Amino acid sequence: MSELDTSIRPWEGDITALNVDVIVNAANKSLRGGGGVDGAIHRGAGPALLEECRTRYPDGGFTGGAFVTAGHRLNAKWVIHTIGPHWDGGDRGESDLLADCYRNSLQATADLGARTVALPAISTGIFGYPAEEAALIAVHTVRESLREPGHGIEEVVLVAFSSRMLAIYQRFLETE
Ligand code: ADP
Repeated sequence: MSELDTSIRPWEGDITALNVDVIVNAANKSLRGGGGVDGAIHRGAGPALLEECRTRYPDGGFTGGAFVTAGHRLNAKWVIHTIGPHWDGGDRGESDLLADCYRNSLQATADLGARTVALPAISTGIFGYPAEEAALIAVHTVRESLREPGHGIEEVVLVAFSSRMLAIYQRFLETE
């Protein structure tokens, strides 16, 4: 499958409502749940998700990494927990780390044999990454990852949680 066969679709709403194979979670290093989208995903999946995170990842994770669990009570079969960088002015490697999140999450999606995946705007909430800069990295890195041959991914949904973020994604998907 090539990049051209895969649709990248912007969508506004609660990521836990989507019927996709994989939901990506913007987690933190503890992998023990948190606020924002992390909280919504844990509420939707139920307590077994936290239990699986504890047993599978006793030491948590690292920034830029992607860590797979089941989706439990979610519609999604899997959750991929990725850990975005905290925004700290932009010259502390944040952009590379954010790109790692998208790249590693899509690689993990392909490794699972999953065909549809939804990603939130990683780091743009509690972690403070500026929305436009983050969206540009999301669009570029997703496109680049889909150029890898044989990934099998049919649809990538970029989930916005505000009309502003949706408009940013739409603009970059048209112009970048
Ligand atoms: P981070 O710590 O990586 O910044 P947040 O969860 O605070 O993670 O925010 C990441 C993005 O997810 C923000 O754009 C936020 O508006 C969005 N978000 C929060 N809740 C949801 C949800 N239920 N579905 C989709 N996106 C969400």
